[in-house]
Amino acid sequence: MEHFSEQPLADFVRGVSGPEISRDIKAHLARGCSKCQAAQEAWSRVRRIATDEVAYAPPENLVRLVKLGFASKPAQPRTLASLVFDSFAQPLLAGVRSVALNLRQVVYEAEGLTVDLRFAHRPQSKAVHLVGQVLDKQAARALQNNPSIELSTEQEQLLATTTVSALGEFYIEFEAKDHVWLSVKAANRNTVRIPLTNPKQR
Ligand SMILES: [Zn+2]
Repeated sequence: MEHFSEQPLADFVRGVSGPEISRDIKAHLARGCSKCQAAQEAWSRVRRIATDEVAYAPPENLVRLVKLGFASKPAQPRTLASLVFDSFAQPLLAGVRSVALNLRQVVYEAEGLTVDLRFAHRPQSKAVHLVGQVLDKQAARALQNNPSIELSTEQEQLLATTTVSALGEFYIEFEAKDHVWLSVKAANRNTVRIPLTNPKQR
């Protein structure tokens, strides 16, 4: 699927794109592209901040502003999660790695949460499919208020975002990169940070 880059999406959010491109973007988002949806939401957020704090800022400053915005200090304190299980550390699974689909399961814990992550990745593809579950460690059940999940680069650039379901599950797709951080944002807890290593390297 062809995705839209940041500039057309930023223009779209600001309502300054041409009728043709804006029709294309609308149709693309209506097809449910989570990647562009996430980018559009990020730009909308930035636009709100820009409108509130920098009234009448010239539009060309917005691109610089979004980069600063993503690099700014996080509002919530963070906790680095500890790895408690990694299927790649299990020698018996070695044979599984050579099949058409690379699978890996890791489990992390922090802030009283258990985060179970299952990655699927085809050797020829850059796309990584991640199915996860976030549970209250003590109660072994999903949290009441659905936490949000964010994937970002080392430079705090948002790659993808989603929300955990009532069963504590989420699905997210992203492009394999060397350093990706997964953040779990749940109410009344520090943001849980999990480093995702590039599955292609394993
Ligand atoms: Zn897209």
